[in-house]
Amino acid sequence: MAGTSATGRRKRGSDKGFAGTTEPAGTSLLERKFRRLGLLHPSDFIVHLPLRYEDETRIQTIAELIPGMPGQIEAEVMHSEVQFRPRRQLHAVVRDDSGQIALRWLHFYPSQQKQLATGQRLRVRGELRHGFGGYEMVHPKLSAAGGVLPQALTPVYPTTDGLSQASLRKAIDQALMQADLSDTLPDALLQRYGLIPFADAIRVLHHPPARVSYSELLEREHPAWLRIKFDELLAQQLSLAEARAARRKQRAPVLSARGGNLMQALHDSLPFALTAAQERVVGEISADLARPFPMHRLLQGDVGSGKTIVAAFAAVQAIACGSQVAIMAPTEILAEQHYQKLGAWLQPLGIELAWLAGSLGAKARKSALQATETGQAQLIVGTQALIQEKVDFHNLGLVILDEQHRFGVGQRLELSRKGESAVAGRSLIPHQLNMSATPIPRTLAMTFFADLDVSVIDELPPGRKPVLTKLISDARREQVLGSVMAEVRKGRQAYWVCPLVEESEALQLQTAIDTHAMLVQALPDMRIGLVHGKLATAAKQEVMQAFRSGNIDLLVATTVIEVGVDVPNASLMIIEHAERFGLAQLHQLRGRVGRGSAESICVLMYQAPLSGIARQRLRAMYETGDGFEIAQRDLDQRGPGEFLGVRQSGQELLRFASLETDARIVEQAQEAVPILRDQYPEHARAHLDRWMRNREDYLRT
Ligand code: ADP
Ligand code: MG
Repeated sequence: MAGTSATGRRKRGSDKGFAGTTEPAGTSLLERKFRRLGLLHPSDFIVHLPLRYEDETRIQTIAELIPGMPGQIEAEVMHSEVQFRPRRQLHAVVRDDSGQIALRWLHFYPSQQKQLATGQRLRVRGELRHGFGGYEMVHPKLSAAGGVLPQALTPVYPTTDGLSQASLRKAIDQALMQADLSDTLPDALLQRYGLIPFADAIRVLHHPPARVSYSELLEREHPAWLRIKFDELLAQQLSLAEARAARRKQRAPVLSARGGNLMQALHDSLPFALTAAQERVVGEISADLARPFPMHRLLQGDVGSGKTIVAAFAAVQAIACGSQVAIMAPTEILAEQHYQKLGAWLQPLGIELAWLAGSLGAKARKSALQATETGQAQLIVGTQALIQEKVDFHNLGLVILDEQHRFGVGQRLELSRKGESAVAGRSLIPHQLNMSATPIPRTLAMTFFADLDVSVIDELPPGRKPVLTKLISDARREQVLGSVMAEVRKGRQAYWVCPLVEESEALQLQTAIDTHAMLVQALPDMRIGLVHGKLATAAKQEVMQAFRSGNIDLLVATTVIEVGVDVPNASLMIIEHAERFGLAQLHQLRGRVGRGSAESICVLMYQAPLSGIARQRLRAMYETGDGFEIAQRDLDQRGPGEFLGVRQSGQELLRFASLETDARIVEQAQEAVPILRDQYPEHARAHLDRWMRNREDYLRT
């Protein structure tokens, strides 16, 4: 088998005119069904791989059949009849030398009745099960005994309504003859990683010879599967490398650290010293900004590690070079807090800020838009309102996304796109800094995020004590109220997070209002505030401000306070119905406390009985405060969707490989990327052609 035929020999011409490549107007019903499975092109069909197989390669005796498993026998019809009780059905008894079984059809054709004439010898395929009158097969397939046995296992493909296995098999077999199966990998790489040729792998997977280990096939450990998984992961890595190379060819404003003075002034004005980790990442970002191509960096740091001040340093460097900076946060409360905090740090340095959120009044919005457009505002802080059409930036050089995993891919791209400007006929793309407290497990970082440079703040500011986590049953609410009183008496503040009600937003709101009323009654001496998503902006701001300045002791809240909120004097977090929240969410919520030097407590109230998953989650929260550990457990429990942003899931991106079990292949594929790109660029192109048509958009995060 030619493992290395050069790409030039690929038979592109043969792809034309195949099912689905014609205009949609001319598409048949069958083609539309193929389309639904994403099958347009012969190269799509060849990698539409079986879910499992049926073994029709041998004949068993009746005695050899195993209940619950498909089997194939040849037997003689002893008797058959149409029965009417308990309902109309065709019933037959067949036997071979080893025994006899019954066959039953609830729907049948006269032709089947004829086939089942007494004394006929038939080949019968079906699943043996234990019925009323002994062992039987329901709706088995019949054919004449003695026919030629297939040499290969019969593939069973993933399909869609109304598309039969037979039609799929036919189309795929046709594609296997038409499509180009030549190898996209050079011999050297096949040898290095012990891979079998693509054509062999594909043929084996569609039509495995009977001697192939069935369990290796099913577990996807057969060398044929290893090759396909390698190819898939390699294509993904190649396409990320491509995106990275393309980015390096783009131009961005060079924002050198000549703003050193202003940055020094910020340094000097802070009431705290940066941690070593913060200093390091400020330096990494600073170096990126001074390069002539756009930065694409993820700043990762656990909740409370101090990412905001790092963002402030980046902003100052850009502003000192005459650029505008935009920072976008996923909630209005967080955006507003940034506006306040960054204002307190940067206004004394003479930097002008503007604030943009959806709920701004007409007049305030107009003046914010104007300040943004004219460049009078140097730092614009806001929510998704920043990416609305009416917003025009002025010389935008840096965009910062806080809690980036909360934004969809589109939203992330949109802000950069808005900042594109043309200088001397070439467009300038702003630098981009993404911030997230959700640590990305290693395999995920190596695959989906390979195009991002990552900076990690792996150290908390000094003096932080770990948050003490308690699990308390709902039934002991009195005890929880007692803790709230004790904490407030010490001059501290507390959050009370209301249960998530997934079915209805209205219900969720009502729950928050009820909880607030209940607490006001139970704790009459306390100053209790309420904040939720439906509150008007001004009211929301007022409540948050009162909490920040210590005029509210207990803040009852929905999950609007989940991300980013920073009130260091708050040291107690109560979460009701904690069993309804996801791990990442619980970790974020718990991160609202433990931000000062006081001993902090997080109470997870739960309602028994707990489901297995909920129990695991709460146990994880109890056992560890380490965001990385929690992210890993979250990945194990829920898969990669959460980490990739709201609209993206790992499922869509990887069809064959699995990040959990194929870490070794991920590493090999990653290692192969530079080899392929540097030494075999033709192969690299062909490989992307085969695997990545229509898919590249997903990967441009
Ligand atoms: P996060 O990484 O969760 O966004 P923040 O930026 O909100 O964290 O910072 C958490 C708190 O720690 C804030 O009150 C911030 O002012 C404070 N902080 C940040 N860096 C330091 C430091 N080096 N020393 C002391 N406190 C710090
Ligand atoms: Mg933050």
